[in-house]
Amino acid sequence: MFRVGIGHDTHRLGPGRPLILGGLKIEHPRGLVGHSDADVVLHAVTDALLGAAGLGDIGDAYPDTDPRYRDCDSSLFVRETLQRLNRDGWRIANVDVIVFAQEPKLGPLKARMRQQLAELLRLDVQAVNVK
Ligand code: MG
Repeated sequence: MFRVGIGHDTHRLGPGRPLILGGLKIEHPRGLVGHSDADVVLHAVTDALLGAAGLGDIGDAYPDTDPRYRDCDSSLFVRETLQRLNRDGWRIANVDVIVFAQEPKLGPLKARMRQQLAELLRLDVQAVNVK
């Protein structure tokens, strides 16, 4: 069986936070505000994977009221979700990510982000796209 998931997330930029996007720490004067490290890319990917497998959404799986996830590395969400999917017999064919951001410029980061996502999802880099 072939299934498709769509994930979405939005975080605002704020001062005094590191900017983490797609698992990359990016030099920037502002970072994303959120309960975890607020990695909006990894949150949307997690959300899409959960959706494709019919496992709800990231808010169900990792509630922002849970102190375990305060400032946590969002790659935890991706890794755990991947394990859940694999346990249920699912395998990821490809991931396509769209980032909407006023800043920073995504162009210089896309290739590294793609590589990082591929490693995290244990996919060939050709199976991951960032735009
Ligand atoms: Mg989020």
